[in-house]
Amino acid sequence: MSSLLVDTIGELVTNGTGEGPLGIRRKAAVLIEEGRVAWVGPAAYAPAADRRVDAGGAAVLPGFVDSHAHLVFAGDRAAEFAARMAGERYTGGGIRTTVGATRAASDDELRATVRRLRGEALRQGTTTMEIKSGYGLTVADEARSLRIAAETSTETTFLGAHVVPAEYADRPDDYVGLVCGPMLAAAAPHAKWIDVFCERGAFDVDHARAILACGQAAGLGVRVHANQLGPGPGVQLGVELGAASVDHCTHLSDADMAALAGTARDDGSGTTTVATLLPGAEFSTRSPYPDARRLLDAGVTVALATDCNPGTSYTSSMPFCVALAVREMGMTPAEAVWAATAGGARALRRDDIGVLTPGARADLVVLDAPSYLHLAYRPGVPLIRQVLLNGVPQ
Ligand SMILES: [Zn+2]
Repeated sequence: MSSLLVDTIGELVTNGTGEGPLGIRRKAAVLIEEGRVAWVGPAAYAPAADRRVDAGGAAVLPGFVDSHAHLVFAGDRAAEFAARMAGERYTGGGIRTTVGATRAASDDELRATVRRLRGEALRQGTTTMEIKSGYGLTVADEARSLRIAAETSTETTFLGAHVVPAEYADRPDDYVGLVCGPMLAAAAPHAKWIDVFCERGAFDVDHARAILACGQAAGLGVRVHANQLGPGPGVQLGVELGAASVDHCTHLSDADMAALAGTARDDGSGTTTVATLLPGAEFSTRSPYPDARRLLDAGVTVALATDCNPGTSYTSSMPFCVALAVREMGMTPAEAVWAATAGGARALRRDDIGVLTPGARADLVVLDAPSYLHLAYRPGVPLIRQVLLNGVPQ
């Protein structure tokens, strides 16, 4: 059995036992065997190993878990971004532009985009990345989007209910029937999750409930795009259905907060509905950020993700999201780093990632910095020195 020791770690974020909420250990080492963390402890007592990575006193943390990304698409919407920065307001209609380009693209073009963005994210420390469909919106195009996504990630999400496509604009009930029927049947073999954009201009709460219930009946876990553009019923619908995560959460009522807080458990029992915040979207649409401080103070479990997509958040950078969360959303650096690692894992109902404790997947990041604090303190700087994926240096 081949072993690898990551040695001379100045500051190790474990998200397990240790100092503070990040479970920090200093002057530490991590032993990796068969792609898993086998031992964590003081560098002075590190066991022998076949190979060694010298962290040189730098900080090491679990790889980022990006639990919300839309990578299967064609084209870009740079012109729409420029128009918005010149004063136009985002209303969600731009998704249809990308749908047209995606339907016209070949499998290889879509595959190349997924691989390019996944590679970009990996170089910025993301070791797990959820990938949604949602720019095909036909039976064949949703199925191929998920087939291509599944080549790159096990965390794949069927988002046929991203927006009602133009050809169904006058008969949304018929589109919901298509999503719950043949589209779900074609998508489910390649998907782990189902998601709905529950928002004014997309899907109302009755349609969203029907679609999510069909997905659950087909064995998929539930996630919801909720309360992004304004107040609405999406968050409480997600809680009602036991969603792993409700995403965006920019406009929350007291009742939404109470519903989310009521699901929070510290024992990882798998009943928590995580509030996943996507500050890249507010950045790119020049909108008010979600109030992370209010969620955290209410005891809600919070995750951070990129929402990487060509319309409203074309970033694959989790360090960028950490910096935004600290500067703009009232999170401490420790809260933001936890949300970008362990929080993302909770949002995917995974206990084998987002932590560096014995038995966890050996997905870890060596920073070009002495502390995780630098992720927010030095925004925009490439601080990821090395990434280990399943114990393998990338
Ligand atoms: Zn999204």
